[in-house]
Amino acid sequence: MKIIDGKTLAENLRKNIANEVKQYSRPPGLAVLLVGDDQASQVYVRNKSRACVEVGFYSDQIHKSANITQEELLSEVQRLNENNNIDGILVQLPLPSHIDANEIIEAIIPEKDVDGFSSENVGKLSLNKPFISPCTPKGVIKMLDSIKCDLRGKDCVIIGASNIVGRPMAMEFLNAGATVQVCHKETKDIKQKTKSADIIVAAAGVANLVNSEWVKEGAVIIDVGINRLEDGSMTGDVDFDDVKDTVSAISPVPGGVGPMTIAVLLENTLTAYQAKL
Ligand code: NAD
Repeated sequence: MKIIDGKTLAENLRKNIANEVKQYSRPPGLAVLLVGDDQASQVYVRNKSRACVEVGFYSDQIHKSANITQEELLSEVQRLNENNNIDGILVQLPLPSHIDANEIIEAIIPEKDVDGFSSENVGKLSLNKPFISPCTPKGVIKMLDSIKCDLRGKDCVIIGASNIVGRPMAMEFLNAGATVQVCHKETKDIKQKTKSADIIVAAAGVANLVNSEWVKEGAVIIDVGINRLEDGSMTGDVDFDDVKDTVSAISPVPGGVGPMTIAVLLENTLTAYQAKL
């Protein structure tokens, strides 16, 4: 059984990015916009900004109060769209409930949409003409590549159908020649579907949802889930100990998809920068 070591893969990707950045006179710039005081979001934003600085990017962290209006946030995005030192703009989700997150995401020009969430970038991925694609699914593909998992003709089951993970993941798999099923809260008998899958991506946000009864011998599992348990520890959507003797490869939590997501965000920022050059 192989452990798909996202931490080391991400370190290598970051090293390559750092080397590439050295050749440019102006550093790529990423602006991370945080609204409100959500603790988890603050940690994510800090980690993203730190990762930027480590590879030699310029990082701009903008923190706005939770009672910012839609118009004020839109004009902040507009200011960043027009700033020549900023190549990528990331709005940390979730946004407060009075804000229309969709409108904010669509206000970021696609050339700077390094999360790849805008309809233009999602559309390009769906047409198999990707420009900047959502970080987590793109990171998952890199993780599967790292174990030389040929996706052509494989049966893939994704648990979770969100705009940021499940849906773009389905497009990535389709583009790679796999056959895809996407399960969600309304799906009947998910176990019966995962049981015949070559590759399972678990992204429901439900601790230990997937156990050995859901998995066929030799399957590959990528665990995207991040769940905090009562004792403060972190776990994925997969019962790692229960499935480890059944699978051929699995990504751990922590140390799997999480670090890859941040490394791909840096890669997307570099792509945006290079496209502008
Ligand atoms: P979300 O809440 O937006 O979507 C969850 C999806 O899972 C929905 O489609 C829902 O229908 C489905 N779902 C929920 N419960 C289910 C169940 N019992 N059975 C089947 N489907 C179910 O969440 P999200 O933003 O897509 O994130 C999913 C998980 O992945 C979370 O734990 C999140 O923290 C994690 N995540 C990790 C990374 C990373 O970098 N590692 C990135 C993004 C999200």
